Amino acid sequence: MRKPFIAANWKMNTDSQYAVELASGLEKAIADVKGVNVAVCPPFVYLQSVAKSLSVDGNVAVGSQDVYFESNGAFTGEISCEMLKDVCCSYVITGHSERRHVIGESDELINKKTIAALEAGIKPILCIGELLEEREADKTSQVCERQLREGLKGISEEQLAEVTIAYEPVWAIGTGKTATSQQAQEVHEFVRGVIADLYSKNAADNIIIQYGGSAKPKNTKELMSCKDVDGLLVGGAGLKVDSFSEMVKITE
Ligand code: PGA
Repeated sequence: MRKPFIAANWKMNTDSQYAVELASGLEKAIADVKGVNVAVCPPFVYLQSVAKSLSVDGNVAVGSQDVYFESNGAFTGEISCEMLKDVCCSYVITGHSERRHVIGESDELINKKTIAALEAGIKPILCIGELLEEREADKTSQVCERQLREGLKGISEEQLAEVTIAYEPVWAIGTGKTATSQQAQEVHEFVRGVIADLYSKNAADNIIIQYGGSAKPKNTKELMSCKDVDGLLVGGAGLKVDSFSEMVKITE
């Protein structure tokens, strides 16, 4: 049985006060939830205060939205895995489409970040997903397969147990256009097949695959009812205690 995993990606939002209010409000709102893993991913500068505001044995984990693959040293502006661990981060998002397409990160760089996180004991959430023109050109599977193979290069089956995959069709992110549950299920099933091919059926059966892209309380039940959708990576709806906690409760 795969335990559902819902993570909020706050992106470049919140301020120091709201970040703490949001995290602690969420912790309170879902204090009784046992059946769902939950994480929040604040901007770097608020990671420490958010982590400090949460109880150590509570059910909200902290994740980062990015990381650099090198260890501490002369890398101006970057943040290392050691630093993330120092502020109690247990997850890190790698390969988010905004980093791929706005910042220009390559599959190779994303792979390095994913490996560095695993080596440091931080669990990566590796994002994949096609652009609208790629979907329209029938290239969804091809793009997702390439991003998966390249993103997971050099990662052992044992390490894979710590990896979450997030399928986020780029055309659905922040647009209000959610993939239909059928579209999501189709790609999730395909992703599981690629994992089986790259690793084993056991690895494929166990890996958590989140859906992301305009996920909100209204579509949570339908998305989560898909056989191969194990969780959600949530942007906009993760910025309010009410909507995000509702999604977690619906999932439980
Ligand atoms: P959205 O973002 O929920 O606002 O569409 C999802 C994401 O980018 O992770």
